[in-house]
Amino acid sequence: LLFLEGFKNGFDTSLVHLRRLPSYYGLLHLRRQSLTLNSRVFYGARHVTPAAIRVGSNPVQSLLFRAPTQLTGWNRSSRELGRRVYFSARSDGVDLLSSSPIVSTNPNLEDCLTVIALPLPHKPLIPGFYMPIYVKDPKVLAALQESTRQQAPYVGAFLLKDGASTDSSSRSETDNVVEKFKGKGKPKKKRRKELLNRIYQVGTLAQISSIQGEQVILFGRRRLLIKEMVSEDPPTVNVYHLKDKPYDKDNAVIKASYVEVISTLRDVLKTNSLWRDQDIGDFSYQHLADFGAGISGANKHQNQGVLKELDVHKRLELTLELVKKQVEINKIKETDDGSSLSAKIRVRIDTNRDKIPKHVLKVMEEEFTKLEMLEDNYSDFDLTYNYLDWLTVLPWGNFSYENFDVLRAKKILDEDHYGLSDVKERILEFIAVGRLRGTSQGKIICLSGPPGVGKTSIGRSIARALDRKFFRFAVGGLSDVGEIKGHCQTYVGAMPGKMVQCLKSVGTENPLILIDEIDKLGRCHTGDPASALLEVMDPEQNANFLDHFLNVTIDLSKVLFVCTANVIEMIPGPLLDRMEVIDLSGYVTDEKMHIARDYLVKTTCRDCGIKPEQVDVSDAALLSLIENYCREAGVRNLQKQIEKIYRKVALELVRQGAVSLDVTDTKDTKSSAKTDSEVKRMKLADIMKILESATGDSTESKTKQSGVVAKTFKKVMIDESNLADYVGKPVFQEEKIYEQTPVGVVMGLAWTSMGGSTLYIETTFVEEGEGKGGLHITGQLGDVMKESAEIAHTVARKIMFEKEPENLFFANSKLHLHVPEGATPKDGPSAGCTMITSFLSLAMKKLVRKDLAMTGEVTLTGRILPIGGVKEKTIAAKRSRIKTIIFPEANRRDFEELAENMKEGLEVHFVDEYEKIFDLAFNYDH
Ligand code: ADP
Repeated sequence: LLFLEGFKNGFDTSLVHLRRLPSYYGLLHLRRQSLTLNSRVFYGARHVTPAAIRVGSNPVQSLLFRAPTQLTGWNRSSRELGRRVYFSARSDGVDLLSSSPIVSTNPNLEDCLTVIALPLPHKPLIPGFYMPIYVKDPKVLAALQESTRQQAPYVGAFLLKDGASTDSSSRSETDNVVEKFKGKGKPKKKRRKELLNRIYQVGTLAQISSIQGEQVILFGRRRLLIKEMVSEDPPTVNVYHLKDKPYDKDNAVIKASYVEVISTLRDVLKTNSLWRDQDIGDFSYQHLADFGAGISGANKHQNQGVLKELDVHKRLELTLELVKKQVEINKIKETDDGSSLSAKIRVRIDTNRDKIPKHVLKVMEEEFTKLEMLEDNYSDFDLTYNYLDWLTVLPWGNFSYENFDVLRAKKILDEDHYGLSDVKERILEFIAVGRLRGTSQGKIICLSGPPGVGKTSIGRSIARALDRKFFRFAVGGLSDVGEIKGHCQTYVGAMPGKMVQCLKSVGTENPLILIDEIDKLGRCHTGDPASALLEVMDPEQNANFLDHFLNVTIDLSKVLFVCTANVIEMIPGPLLDRMEVIDLSGYVTDEKMHIARDYLVKTTCRDCGIKPEQVDVSDAALLSLIENYCREAGVRNLQKQIEKIYRKVALELVRQGAVSLDVTDTKDTKSSAKTDSEVKRMKLADIMKILESATGDSTESKTKQSGVVAKTFKKVMIDESNLADYVGKPVFQEEKIYEQTPVGVVMGLAWTSMGGSTLYIETTFVEEGEGKGGLHITGQLGDVMKESAEIAHTVARKIMFEKEPENLFFANSKLHLHVPEGATPKDGPSAGCTMITSFLSLAMKKLVRKDLAMTGEVTLTGRILPIGGVKEKTIAAKRSRIKTIIFPEANRRDFEELAENMKEGLEVHFVDEYEKIFDLAFNYDH
């Protein structure tokens, strides 16, 4: 018993208390055994079921003590002590009394027909168990003391019904209940009736084992039924003693239940080292049922159910159910090393106490207290545990040291990416500001550009350069706000949002979070993910970010957010407002060559386990790959193709070495005896071995096979000529449909989320007749582009009228304008000038200048307005081997800012009105 005190005050005090005991000698064993338990229980082993204390045998007769689950539910507050109980297998008999080292005994059990009724707020007292309670009411306490002195140390212990208990302040709960229970100020009969209604009528005859101050230790002896109330102050009742119904010990059914309870109980017991060697085989049927119920984590109603059940078979069945549940719970709760779940939580709270914000710490402590109280309610326990697990696992106050070394950052960025000098410069500026300010928070970087240009990998590099942890959160198509802000705990399977998950996984409060594809955020009726993201990223709001699951505010202001998007126009306005956009618009052939040679080939080679000297991909092959297979703005596809090549090379190398080391012709794969599938089945290690032996690297090969290998191994060469063997026929459709555009066809430049591309505007004439002039448009054009076509038609007609007033082509011809690749929807005003040129070419039956492309919006009066995507369009034009480009005058600066290699070899004209385009397109010498 005093062992509990030991837990409360630290172990050593328990010994002091033990010495105060009359039968201290008999408890020495208890203390010794407790040594193992103590360290674990201190933080609350209340969820290790069952935590137990065992007393070894004493010279007279062994006595069992058990600290069942309820026992462990303590809270360092005296009130909670009332919930703990111990167990003795022999509760109902004179024999026990004489042998007990602790309980002062009075054998006249049968005579106890009038007893003080003690209401129990938390649990019924199951016979065989000890239960400490606190009684502060001096009258009741005095009456209890008096009855011990009278050699009749018995009371009735009755579970209080739900709703009858009160909240207490400084008073003990039992005491409060006693006070209420007495129900002063009402007519006697009514009062007594009410009192009896508040408690369960079946209770326990409890022996007062000891009284220490206000703490009274009860020991359950036998079942009682209240007959009537005889006095209220202190509450006293007349009782019947209940006896179990007779049963046939040898009945097969009851025996089967007994055996099943025993075997299930053993499962429960063995989960705790202190119970492991306990033999329960000699328990009687009744005691086994009581013991099982008492040590299971059953709630008070379940325990009361067992208490009132006098049919032993039914009682065993009830217990079996409870014990089985306990086995399930143990499976969940018990960790490998045996430390309890709540101990884990306690350690997390205590070790981080100084760093956890006050408001969070308060919630943690409250929830932790709840966790302890909830051990008898399984589902709620798991919910609370899950919540606390999340709350305590977050990296409160844990930062990674941020590195603002600009030179190092530059080195890292260069290491990871070729070119992108303007992007890198912007990032270095950002780091430099961070250095001066001492922190890099407060800014959201948005990397925008077509797929595969390195947005994600740049994000990763920034994290590396700043020494921050990296976390990627793809929000493309995300429509559930709960994904970001977490689900309220009331939902089944509720989880915290991604931000909390991120903090948990990175373990620092200042990671770099890459929010990928922010332009593809979905929408949903339950809330707007964009505004949830705004709450996350906005430096004004995110210091107090509220996750619905955690329900406490967390500080995201230390997080550095980097977003990626293909099209910034699609980013919700309020988000875009707070971002610093950095454009990555794609690579020209020259850049792709460098990236392929210096980065992609090297990494792929390494990833495939191939040594650089084993393979040679020529520049011509790479160039052909870039120009004929991977024309898109980014390099992801290029990377895939290179990987394809290297995988094939790996196979070739393996075949060379795997089959016969004297294969000399690398292209002669047919001579290989192993089939593809056979090679696939080989383990990587084997392949590596073979590769090594093929190159003569391993010592083994040097000794055994060097002679053969060295002279037979041949480097795999990949050139333009055999490229198709590795990557198949060129998949890329020639963007240039016409070598020389015919009359009525002009090349325009478009800008898509995939980067820039060239597109043709075709016009042809359908029929002629006076007044038949009109326009038919096809090619999946959007409204803006359709309007743009009509404007172009009008402007062209006007120009024609000015230049050749007698030319009535537009007045009398029905025209058809089409933009090829009809399956692709297109929109935007920037093809205006291209359309006019196309109409005029048709009207004048004159070809436009060769290798010319143009872009620009046109007004009705023929003025040219600026367009977007100059860089992308320039790249696309170069890719299509265009020599002359016409851009709006207002875009001159955009073009001039481009890197020199991009501008190289291009003749660019900037125009502000259509007249100039007319000259460039039609007044030329072929
Ligand atoms: P995005 O996020 O823009 O779609 P990724 O970041 O996934 O593209 O890049 C695709 C691949 O291309 C990555 O393996 C990346 O390392 C590589 N890559 C892109 N740009 C470069 C570059 N400038 N230098 C080296 N590798 C690059």
